[in-house]
Amino acid sequence: MQEKGTISIHTENIFPIIKKFLYSDHEIFLRELVSNAVDATQKIKRLAQLGQYNGELGDISVEVAFDKDKKTITISDKGLGMTAEEIKKYINQIAFSGATEFVEKFKDAKDANEIIGKFGLGFYSAFMVAKQVEINTLSYQEGAQPARWTCDGSTEFEISAGDRKTRGTDIILHINEDSEEFLDKWRLQGILDKYAKFLPVPIKFGTKTESVEDGVDDKGEKKWKSVEVDNIINTTSPIWTKSPNDLKDEDYLSFYKELYPMSEDPLFWIHLNVDYPFNLTGVLYFPKVKNDFEFQKNKIKLYSRQVFITDEVKDIVPEFLMLLHGVIDSPDIPLNVSRSFLQSDSNVKKINNYITKKVADKLAELFKKDRKVYEEKWNDIGLFVKYGMISEEKFAEKGKEFTLLKNTNGEFFTLTEYKDKVKALQTDKNEQVVYLYATDIAKQDAFIQSANKKDYDVLVMDSPIDNHFIQHLEMKEEKTSLKRVDADVVEKLIQKEDTYANLLTEEQSKKVKDVFEKAINNQAYRVEVEGLSPEEMPVTVTMEEFMRRMKEMAQMGGGMGFYGAMPDNYKVAINGNHPLIDKILKAEAEEDQAKLAKQAFDLALLAQGMLTGKDLTAFVKRSVELI
Ligand code: ADP
Ligand code: MG
Repeated sequence: MQEKGTISIHTENIFPIIKKFLYSDHEIFLRELVSNAVDATQKIKRLAQLGQYNGELGDISVEVAFDKDKKTITISDKGLGMTAEEIKKYINQIAFSGATEFVEKFKDAKDANEIIGKFGLGFYSAFMVAKQVEINTLSYQEGAQPARWTCDGSTEFEISAGDRKTRGTDIILHINEDSEEFLDKWRLQGILDKYAKFLPVPIKFGTKTESVEDGVDDKGEKKWKSVEVDNIINTTSPIWTKSPNDLKDEDYLSFYKELYPMSEDPLFWIHLNVDYPFNLTGVLYFPKVKNDFEFQKNKIKLYSRQVFITDEVKDIVPEFLMLLHGVIDSPDIPLNVSRSFLQSDSNVKKINNYITKKVADKLAELFKKDRKVYEEKWNDIGLFVKYGMISEEKFAEKGKEFTLLKNTNGEFFTLTEYKDKVKALQTDKNEQVVYLYATDIAKQDAFIQSANKKDYDVLVMDSPIDNHFIQHLEMKEEKTSLKRVDADVVEKLIQKEDTYANLLTEEQSKKVKDVFEKAINNQAYRVEVEGLSPEEMPVTVTMEEFMRRMKEMAQMGGGMGFYGAMPDNYKVAINGNHPLIDKILKAEAEEDQAKLAKQAFDLALLAQGMLTGKDLTAFVKRSVELI
């Protein structure tokens, strides 16, 4: 039997196109060929189960080998094999028809990315690295003859009698000059570790040395010896393929360690398992989050039937859950398609919603089951929850129930609980409930104290996402606004009718303003004399809520923009009712007035953590003099 033929497609040579464009990552040829080998093995197992194959299954591992001198890489399986007819059908016609379509579309495509990879030309990806590909195969079918197929990357192939004696297939790649990097043990090991780690059939790649016990020596101590054992790449039944009922916490934790050897233990996890209307399994872990959460993205690994595809799960997993770790396995996610296609794919949308719902349900369950434990974990999960509340409408609906607010006393409240708590005291004259918050408890301590003195509550909002979360709350909570506790003097933060009257005459007020303006001598500070409680600080420096937020947003966005470029601007509130102001007015010498004013102003800066460097030194010196 010898047959030559031409693969019947119009384009003379499709392989340069495949090579160049099909996959940017040439290493995936190995993923494709190994998964074909695994498929063939799964099929023979299935046939045996169905009683359609009665021979011995035997060792069914897939083997990957390379020969540096001959410049070959061989992928061998003991799967169902192919007859010459089947090669013609599955390799020549079907795969090539895919290739033809690919080339046809490619010719008129406006955007190459649109179609590249839409065609899973699995087998032909071999030509990205090989100048010649050989198939040597024997079908499981009774009386089947071994067959050999060779192709040099042109459209011509050759089929002849093969010499394989046992069921299965060898794919032999004659590696081209540009791809010799793949003829390397560590390179191949690395690629297999990446793509084949959880394949359902054992993948063998050479041997490795292991220490095993070798009896005991004279002193009764264990002896060890080195032995060469098969180097098996994979775990064939990773936990996501098992039923949650058969798994213990330890199993989840040790799988986590296997995936992320350097990470701390996760907080908790969710086992995903659906088969309708789409197929999805997986385990998602909630990691301990650090503040630099950008850096933690892309930790979820995406698999299709246990073949690793990518860890760029953007679009498949909702943005706010990208901080999670773990594995998602779905044959229903289109794997090699462009981003724009993914976004519009209805399965992807459903998967997205499903994951969001599962995560919300899990959080709700944790909260209900043991609020104390949930509160303890809030530092870590708060970030996810807030992120989810802001970015996913669907999540926000459920998230209302288990979103917590923490105050400066370390107490936690749900959104409803908090509103009930502060409503009575913290409603201003316009019926707005004002939530006060601190971004830095230490620095804003003086302001927190003043607020607490009035029995106001102060929330802690110190995580990187709180800026956005605050805006979200204002949008969602009716008649509610948030103010940083140092945004104004306490009387003005929550404006009620009963503010103190300024006991100073107009003339006195003007005088005080004058003295302070001269003493401060800086355009950035706007001085105002107000009537506040005599208990309050004589001078308070604040930055208006709106302005500060806008500046912070501009800075977070990277660009400075209009608000970002504005100089800092502060309000200096002078408490006209404080005895110190009286003292300043009564001071004889102008010099003494200035000194006192400057001292009171510096004290206010100090309370804000704004007094540094030379100014701080001058302040200390002046304090000593005044004492
Ligand atoms: P796909 O795997 O998506 O079907 P491929 O191009 O990877 O596409 O493979 C084409 C076909 O060639 C397979 O469907 C299968 O029928 C056949 N084939 C490839 N590799 C093997 C193998 N190792 N053993 C048996 N059949 C194979
Ligand atoms: Mg394939």
